[in-house]
Amino acid sequence: MKQSHKKKKILLSILALFLLYAIWLSFNVLRFKTYRAPALKPSPLEIEGVFHIHTTFSDGRKSLDEIAKLASQADLDFIILTDHGNPNYESYSSQGWKEGVLVLAGSELSVSRGHLAALGFELPSHSFSHNTEDAFYEIKAGGGFTIISHPYSKTQWSWGKFIEYEGIEIINGDTALKKNIIASIPSLPALLMKPEYTLLKMLDSPHRNLRKWDQLNNLHPIYGYFSLDAHLLYRPALNLLRLHLLLQTPLSDDFNTAKHQVYEALRKGRFYNSIHAAAHAYGFRFSAEEGEKTTPMGSTVLLNSPVTLHIKAPFPFAKEIHLVHNGKKIFSSNEESISYEAAHPGTYRVEVYLTERSPLAKNIPWIVSNPIFLREDEK
Ligand SMILES: [Zn+2]
Ligand SMILES: [Zn+2]
Repeated sequence: MKQSHKKKKILLSILALFLLYAIWLSFNVLRFKTYRAPALKPSPLEIEGVFHIHTTFSDGRKSLDEIAKLASQADLDFIILTDHGNPNYESYSSQGWKEGVLVLAGSELSVSRGHLAALGFELPSHSFSHNTEDAFYEIKAGGGFTIISHPYSKTQWSWGKFIEYEGIEIINGDTALKKNIIASIPSLPALLMKPEYTLLKMLDSPHRNLRKWDQLNNLHPIYGYFSLDAHLLYRPALNLLRLHLLLQTPLSDDFNTAKHQVYEALRKGRFYNSIHAAAHAYGFRFSAEEGEKTTPMGSTVLLNSPVTLHIKAPFPFAKEIHLVHNGKKIFSSNEESISYEAAHPGTYRVEVYLTERSPLAKNIPWIVSNPIFLREDEK
């Protein structure tokens, strides 16, 4: 009799704990919102897209048609498919405008050092080599460029001979999902209410990738990418991470011209990355000014006299802006507009952290810009 009473008590306590947890989670999930700056006037020169998507052309769960529909609902200007293959011919030939979204297809190559995303190449007559260095030069010869995928996770990258890859992934969405699924069990029920909440909770700090990126930038300019690596959960995933490209003319309706515009912005590093589900980053700018000339992020600027770096973060919610020089934070501010006189050569880039209440951990940068490189005149 006494024992069954005890059992009942334990059961009731577990139930009470579970209820408390459910209330706590619902409370947090329901008050979660994605921060926005609705007053900003959209510019046709800034477009948003998602990089690194798998479809049923390789191991993705949805077809391109279904994904394009979701991309259109997520107001994306472009998506970049990177189905597995050396290259993936099917995916390549599916490119075009779909549901008002520019669909571009590179490929994610399996090479001797790991996974390498190749974009902007002409279709080769033979498969790209399995040897990393050979594949790199074949892609380049075909007019393409490369981005190192998930250097420290999944199939890790093995660093070898120095090669000027054009890009490196800073955040990889699929890594976060696979690595943190167990740790995220407490927030999994939120998938049913606000899936973006769960995805944000799964992200972890990209500081190891950022450190490596800074080291590589000491050797040659290389651009950083927030990469989705989506295989499933496309609807919330397409709202998780974004690339924001700064174009020189509005995106063309002509497919080939638009494709060139997007790849040109990526090749030149004229873009920044954001965690869109936490807050909409539209309108951020990082540029260098020498006299009359304003140079966007991604560029190399000669340092004949001090160069003024401008940061614009016109967001009505709390954030902290970090200016990073050769991997070290040299300045931080919560202003919306910042000018900084840079007198030393090196790599300058910007990280912005949300300081508002958010499921995004405080040590994860909400925005990561591409760098501006200041070089001394070699005379
Ligand atoms: Zn991969
Ligand atoms: Zn992938």
